Amino acid sequence: MTHIVILVGPPGSGKGTQAEFICKKFGIPQISTGDMLRAAKRAGTLDPKYLAIMDSGKLVPDEAIIELIDGRLKEDDTKDGFLLDGFPRTVPQAEALDALLSKKGLKLDAVVQLDVPRELLEERLVNRRTDLNTGKIYHLLYNPPPEGAKLEHRADDMPDKVRTRQSAYEAQTAALLPYYEAKALLRRVDGVGKPDEVTARLEAALA
Ligand code: ADP
Repeated sequence: MTHIVILVGPPGSGKGTQAEFICKKFGIPQISTGDMLRAAKRAGTLDPKYLAIMDSGKLVPDEAIIELIDGRLKEDDTKDGFLLDGFPRTVPQAEALDALLSKKGLKLDAVVQLDVPRELLEERLVNRRTDLNTGKIYHLLYNPPPEGAKLEHRADDMPDKVRTRQSAYEAQTAALLPYYEAKALLRRVDGVGKPDEVTARLEAALA
């Protein structure tokens, strides 16, 4: 049985943190377009025009992202399913995904929406740090990183960039919710609480 799951939620809603749990549970890879773009940035292979868009908090054009996903889904580890985190982010991306999946004879199992009120999001992002060696995500106050960790504070986690990302979410990504609701795939999960509490709710929503 394949498991193809999409995680949707505003920036800071905990998609990356929760993705780890879902991937372990189903034994599927996590496909995060944000992580893929940041990896390309570190490798110096990201087109500078996309780099500037990303760092500003706006969305990279659909064509570039769809190409990225198309390439990733050709890899062997996606045969038994995968979790999409940060993709799709626009209705055209969702339509492109539908076309890719139907070409492969695959179908989407669930779209999980992590629901977090706007007031909580900014605080989470501004205090977020990623350990560059392990990829683990920390919060400076609630889940402090271990001493000596090589930390990255994302360029787009600065307060003004965070607001741009929230606006992009509200203007473009929120439109995915009715799109998937109409297909009866949408499951809402309350994203407020400790990571473990949210994980338990996710588990129930995916059962
Ligand atoms: P977040 O933590 O806000 O969910 P991500 O790590 O998923 O952020 O993405 C970071 C940035 O990468 C986005 O603000 C955007 O510029 C770019 N990006 C990632 N995924 C997409 C996508 N599906 N469509 C367009 N741009 C994307």
